[in-house]
Amino acid sequence: MQSCDALIIGGGPAGSTCAGALTRHGLDVLVLDQKTFPRDKVCAGWITPGVLESLQIDAADYAAGRVLQPITGFRTGMIAGNEVETRYQRNVGYGIRRCEFDHYLLQRSGARLRLGEPLRSLARRGDGWMVNGDIETPLLIGAGGHFCPVARFLGAQSRMTESVVAAKEVEFAMDAAQAQQCGVQPETPELFFCKDLKGYGWCVRKSGYLNIGVGRKDSHRLSEHLDAFCEFLRHRGKIPAGIPDRFHGHAYLLHGHGVRRFFDDGVLLIGDAAGLAYAESGEGIRPAVESALLAAATLVEAAGDYRQQRLAPYQRHLQARLGPASSEKSRLPAGLRRYIGGKVLSSAWFTRHVVLDRWFLHARQGALRAS
Ligand SMILES: Cc1cc2nc3c(=O)[nH]c(=O)nc-3n(C[C@H](O)[C@H](O)[C@H](O)COP(=O)(O)OP(=O)(O)OC[C@H]3O[C@@H](n4cnc5c(N)ncnc54)[C@H](O)[C@@H]3O)c2cc1C
Repeated sequence: MQSCDALIIGGGPAGSTCAGALTRHGLDVLVLDQKTFPRDKVCAGWITPGVLESLQIDAADYAAGRVLQPITGFRTGMIAGNEVETRYQRNVGYGIRRCEFDHYLLQRSGARLRLGEPLRSLARRGDGWMVNGDIETPLLIGAGGHFCPVARFLGAQSRMTESVVAAKEVEFAMDAAQAQQCGVQPETPELFFCKDLKGYGWCVRKSGYLNIGVGRKDSHRLSEHLDAFCEFLRHRGKIPAGIPDRFHGHAYLLHGHGVRRFFDDGVLLIGDAAGLAYAESGEGIRPAVESALLAAATLVEAAGDYRQQRLAPYQRHLQARLGPASSEKSRLPAGLRRYIGGKVLSSAWFTRHVVLDRWFLHARQGALRAS
């Protein structure tokens, strides 16, 4: 039998950040993940600088032996429409590789790890939990991503009632010839919206790697949208010949697009398990990290009393940080939406101040710091 002060299911950015914060406050934390690390995660691997700041990562230290691609601009528009290049005089983001980033965060969390083991069983025992038949803990944290079993235990019905983002991507190391053929600049990722504005495609070059993908709020005909985007990139000389043909798919929930219960007696959810990705951009790493820090602060404040009324501040802090749920549906007819979309996405002003600064970079919101 093994016991711990807190058991975290999932060692992605949410789980490792929460583990690190609780460990720093003296709790004995165990992280359980079904995968062994380093492991890959379907993701474009683009983060805003606030993520490094919240995690107190020294960029130079991280970059030693890992990919940390500075981003200083974007090329954006509608697929097969006009394009706009926006430049900044500073780093507005970084390209990372999830196999490296997640491993780095988990290793430095200081938590005990049980890797390569899924959550198989979960039962309430008195005021605590019994997990997999041999782990006892008073506190369970669900950080297992969109399909987190702890979220399911709290009633989430991922496959039935939730309207998710469906996405496909591929990341691969370019050989020398491919690197020469690739027309994407490493410091200027390309983001192009689908004509119906229900999603966008990206092409992010990070050092010698290229990441291509499409994410949409409507999973219908995702592969066709992906093919159209790749053809558009090819036509513009952006992607080299011989890219892998096997793209990986995944789904996740945007903040406000689902109704997950975040907490109950002795348990709470963080990151994708809680469904927190930004609605406009689909960025999920920053909300994963921030929710983990807010959860840790609530748990430390609760000082061992994890009844649900003591965990309720977590939900209030999350709402204050992420803003009101935004499950708005456009009332404009599809044709008019396309027309207006095409116009505004050709505007350099709208692209910089609304699409990038507001929707993608959250430029007015400073980084959340650990308490
Ligand atoms: C195609 C795509 C592109 C994306 N691009 C970006 C991007 O560029 N930037 C960005 O910020 N966000 C992006 N996102 C979103 C981002 O990947 C997620 O929001 C982020 O990974 C959430 O982190 P997390 O720690 O909550 O969950 P995850 O990173 O999913 O980690 C969950 C962990 O739980 C483990 N786990 C799952 N089930 C179990 C189980 N039963 N038992 C034990 N362990 C389990 C998994 O192995 C995994 O390690 C993208 C998502 C997709 C699908």
